[in-house]
This record gives sequence, C-alpha cells and structure tokens, in this order.
Amino acid sequence: PEVITVQELANRMAARGGEVVKALFRMGVMATLTQSIDADTAELVVQEFGHRARRVADNDVELGLVGPADADDTMTPRPPVVTIMGHVDHGKTSLLDALRKTDVAAREAGGITQHIGAYQVNLPDGERVTFIDTPGHEAFTAMRARGASVTDMVVLVVAADDGVMPQTIEAIRHAKAANVPLIVAVNKIDKPGVNPARVQQELLSHDVVVEDLGGDTQVVLVSAKEGTNLDKLLEAIILQAEVLDLRAAVDRPAEGTVIESRLDKGRGPVATVLVQRGTLRQGDIVVAGAEWGRLRAIVDDKAKTVKEVGPSAPVEILGLSGVPGAGDVFTVVENEARAREISEFRTAKLREKAVAALGAGRGTLAEMLA
Ligand code: GDP
Ligand code: MG
Repeated sequence: PEVITVQELANRMAARGGEVVKALFRMGVMATLTQSIDADTAELVVQEFGHRARRVADNDVELGLVGPADADDTMTPRPPVVTIMGHVDHGKTSLLDALRKTDVAAREAGGITQHIGAYQVNLPDGERVTFIDTPGHEAFTAMRARGASVTDMVVLVVAADDGVMPQTIEAIRHAKAANVPLIVAVNKIDKPGVNPARVQQELLSHDVVVEDLGGDTQVVLVSAKEGTNLDKLLEAIILQAEVLDLRAAVDRPAEGTVIESRLDKGRGPVATVLVQRGTLRQGDIVVAGAEWGRLRAIVDDKAKTVKEVGPSAPVEILGLSGVPGAGDVFTVVENEARAREISEFRTAKLREKAVAALGAGRGTLAEMLA
C-alpha cells in the first residue's frame, strides 16, 4: 500500500521534490510529486538521501524525524542499556533493586527515592550501566512491535531452585528475535541444595550455550537477596558492552525512545525517555510521538534536575503538550513551527489509523451479522 506522497516525503527530508522524483527514477520508479509510494520505496529513498528511517509497521515507515546517520568519527563509547527478563518470581524486581543499590553516587547521596522506568548505575571505576526497569515481556514486545530497539542486551534471570520455565523460554525467543545478546543470571543461589549447573544444562536445549559448556553466553551465579556476585554481573555486562562496541554521537540534537509516560497532577505530562544519541538540553524543542513541547525540565533517575544529558541516559522530561506512548520516538527539532508540523502530521496519521480500524471493525461486525 502507498503510504506517502513524493512531495510529502521530500518535505520530511527537507529535500527538493524534483530531487526525490529523480532518485525514484534511478530506482526505476516513475512517480510525480502528487503520487504516493509504498513504505519499502520510501525507505530506500530516505536511505539514498542519507537519512535513517524507522519502520513502525510492515507497511508504515516513520519519516522526517530521523536525521542523517552520524559519521563514524563523531561517535564515542556510550553506556550499555540492559533489560532484565525472566520467569515470574525468579527475582527480576529483586535483582533490579539490588543493582540499583550498588550505585556509588546514590550511596553517597544517602539512598534513592526516585522510581522512574529506567535507572543508571555508576560503577566505582566510572563506568555506567543503564537498566530499563520495565522488565515485563509485554512492554518489551510492545516496543519491539513499534520498531523501537532500546536494549543492547538482556540479563536473563533464572531461579536456581526452579530452573528454565515457560517465560524463560519466551524471553530467550524475544532476545533471539531482536538479535540481542543474553547474559544469564542464575539467581537464588543462597537457597540450600540448589544446583546451578542443572540450569546451564536446561538452557542448552533452548540453544543457549553458556561459556562453561563451550558457548559464548556468560553466566553469573547471583543472589539478589544477599547481594552476592552483583559486581560480577556488572562486570559481565561491561565485558559484553565492549564486545558490542557501543557508540553514539554526543554533539548533535538528541534522539531516543519513550520508555513510559503519565499525566502527573502537579507537573503535567511526564515522559521517561532514553536518550540514544546526541545531547538533550533543557529548553530543547522536542517532538515525542504526536506530542511536542519545549523542555521545561529534565530530571534524572536520582530525582535531580539536570541541564543536559547524553547517550544512554534515562531521564524524565517535562513540558510536552500531551502524553506520548511507550515506544514512541522522540527527537529534538530546530523550531516550534517544525515541531507543530510533525506533530500535526502524526496526529492526522493516528486519526487515519483509528478510522481505518473502526472501518475494519464495522466490516467484521457486518460479517458476523450477515
Ligand atoms: P520477579 O517476579 O521476577 O520480579 O521476582 P521478585 O523479585 O518479585 O522475587 C520473587 C520472590 O523471590 C520474592 O519473594 C523474593 O524475595 C524472592 N527472591 C528474589 N531473589 C532472591 C534470592 O536471591 N534468594 C532468595 N532466597 N529469594 C529471592
Ligand atoms: Mg517483578
């Protein structure tokens, strides 16, 4: 299906219509400015013009928000972004809480009060790790379905006394589908009589081959309850990050993904976002999903107001016109007119989709009644 007119595509990229027509012609597609093209073609054109396109569905591609890809020499190392997954009651929440407490800065500040959907741990040697604190498979799947890739690796929590369970297998599938490496945290090793080696064997039948068995998946035996080997787990994460060679440009307008959002009584719309590249500054004009606004404040995961943050930072942003959805992309744009334009474009798109869904629903109902 056709998703965008050639003119609109040109507008999104701030390119001349004629140039887009020419590019299409080179690809063997004859189209005038007013004609519409499909998502595959649009994506190719976008790449041809040196922009990145984000695929939001099989036949939809989100355009215009994503700037040109960053040059290699502008990229610097960034902290890894980690999601914790695993079967219910295997200790995901306990582990997230325990890891949060290892933060050196937070300990100095005398404890952490803030609970936002993501937090960063500062290691003693200056390294940092960002944890996404929405470990539910549904949130992860929803984000992936929307084309958002936020996590660099998954820590798979498996309780030593329970072993591999259905949601463990589901998590393995998600990680494999998303092409994200796993680190296995065998939890609850404080319990008497548990056998962590059995867990490793069980994982083998799900194509997760741990290092001890000749594979390349790291395993750390931990106890979230007693705080055992949390340093080893963090080390494993840093090691995996080095293998992945995670980098992002710092010196450019920020771009990232909304992790969660809500309407706060006193503060208005609040979105927890993950900055994925660039630097986000107070006063920036941000488009997030169909919402936009000038950032009134940026609040970090330790509840501290900050002026600016860089790649892999999880922060709350205040000043948006409304509440964006989890998995929505956010981008800093050059001015309010541009923000309004993109926001209106997306609002119209959302409306179209809603109407289409309604239409489809009616069809089904009519069929059922026939
Ligand atoms: P989640 O459902 O995966 O988030 O699991 P929770 O973190 O809520 O933990 C489930 C239960 O296991 C709770 O009763 C925890 O106290 C307990 N638990 C978590 N980690 C450990 C651990 O390392 N050792 C022991 N003995 N119990 C644990
Ligand atoms: Mg939990």
